[in-house]
Order: sequence, then structure tokens, then C-alpha cells
Amino acid sequence: ESLVELQNIGKIYWRGDAEETALVSATCSVKPGDRIALVGPSGSGKSTLLHLMGGLDQPSTGSISWPGLGTCENLRPQKVSYIFQMQSLLPPLTVVENVELPLLLGQIEATKARKAALETLNRMRLNTIADKLPEELSGGQAQRVAVARALASRPQLILADEPTGQLDHPTAQHLFDVLLDSLEGSETALVVATHDQAIAERMNTIWQMQHGVMEVVTC
Ligand code: ADP
Ligand code: ADP
Repeated sequence: ESLVELQNIGKIYWRGDAEETALVSATCSVKPGDRIALVGPSGSGKSTLLHLMGGLDQPSTGSISWPGLGTCENLRPQKVSYIFQMQSLLPPLTVVENVELPLLLGQIEATKARKAALETLNRMRLNTIADKLPEELSGGQAQRVAVARALASRPQLILADEPTGQLDHPTAQHLFDVLLDSLEGSETALVVATHDQAIAERMNTIWQMQHGVMEVVTC
């Protein structure tokens, strides 16, 4: 069963009375265990597509459904996780507090949330920085914590928007190794928008975006 299904999705943004077509017509689906790279030039519609798949925004035309996940209202924070490019950790919270936050928002009991957060940090060898604040971390560490936060709730779908965009190449590759290792053997699906060819080549499927039009390439 698909986690998310998009049928002829179009998206138009309005700026004043000028319209901007972000997606022309996208038909695609994500199934458990999928590893999908979303590639294409800046402005080709990648972020728009990720937002629609996560239920953060609504399409202008076409239909979108989450057969394997339920309704748009109950997708987050447990079933679908995001990893953004920008530093998205909350500055006043420590690393472990950041990682457990989605679990707490998902009504998981505090002791269980803390346990799951610490387990995930341990597995990613981030336990030594659990009590640090985001401002004390390197860029690579901060993104690894963002990955840990996305994994801690054991989501069924992870949507990542240029997660390595601000990192140098070795750090980016390492971050991706950690993410793929953590997902190894799991049914969690991953859709990642990336400019990094080396990362795209490690996925099973490539969705190539061009001016809001998608072409699916299965490897
Ligand atoms: P990408 O992620 O591939 O860079 P986006 O999905 O961000 O592409 O953008 C696709 C197009 O939609 C671009 O032309 C962009 O300027 C436009 N766009 C994106 N978000 C908005 C918005 N909130 N308002 C108006 N136009 C937008
Ligand atoms: P074990 O701890 O014996 O590996 P688990 O049921 O905890 O057994 O984990 C099974 C698989 O799920 C392992 O491959 C593990 O790496 C992965 N896993 C465990 N916890 C998480 C989590 N919070 N998020 C994502 N994957 C996880």
C-alpha cells in the first residue's frame, strides 16, 4: 500500500496578481522502503512537492492521498518527519530535548520519549553531545542531530529538503551514510531533494524535476 499518492498534482502560487506555476502535473507515489532522490534546478518545484507530500500545503489541482498513513491531519509529527537544510534545531533546547520534542508533541509519555531520544542519539554516536545547546555544535553535528530528531519517532516517511546543502562534501557524505545506515532494513521511506549527484546515485529511484514537470527514472 502506498504511503502517499499524487494524481495530476498542480500548484500555482499567487504573488499579488501574478501567478507562479510551481508544479504543472505530477503523478507519483511513495511505497514503504522506497529511496527516492528528487533532483532538478533551483525553482523546479522540489520543495513544493515535499510540502504537498507532507500535507503542509494544498495542491491547486489534482488529488493527493495517504492510503498507508491516514488523513492529512494526523501525519505529523509521528508518521512523517522532515529534515530541512537550514539549521532547524530550537536554540534554547539541548540536543536531547530537541530530539524528543516531536515525540512529546505526539503525546508520547515523557519518560518514553526521553528513552527513545537517547537510544537514537546513542545509535548515531551523538550521546556525548546530548546535553549541549545547538549553538555549541558544528554544522555537521547540528545536521546529524536534525537527522536523529527525524528518526526518533520511527516515522513511516522521511521528507528531506537539501539536508546536506550547507555542508562540505565529506561532511555531507558522512551525514548521508549515517542516515542510510539508520534506515537499513527498515520500511521507512525516504524522499530527499538534493543537488548532490553522489547522494542521488545511492537512491533507487530518481524523480527529475524541470520547470514543475516530473520525470520518473527508476534505477
Ligand atoms: P525548488 O525547491 O526546486 O527550488 P520550489 O518548489 O521552491 O522549487 O519553487 C518552485 C517555483 O515556485 C519557483 O518558481 C518559486 O519561485 C515558486 N514559489 C515557491 N514558493 C512560493 C511561494 N510561497 N510564493 C510564490 N512563489 C513560490
Ligand atoms: P535492536 O535495538 O535490537 O536493533 P530494534 O527493534 O530497536 O532492535 O531496532 C530494529 C531496527 O530498527 C534496527 O536496525 C535499528 O537500527 C532500527 N531502529 C531502532 N530504533 C530506531 C529509531 N528510533 N529510528 C529508526 N530506526 C530505529
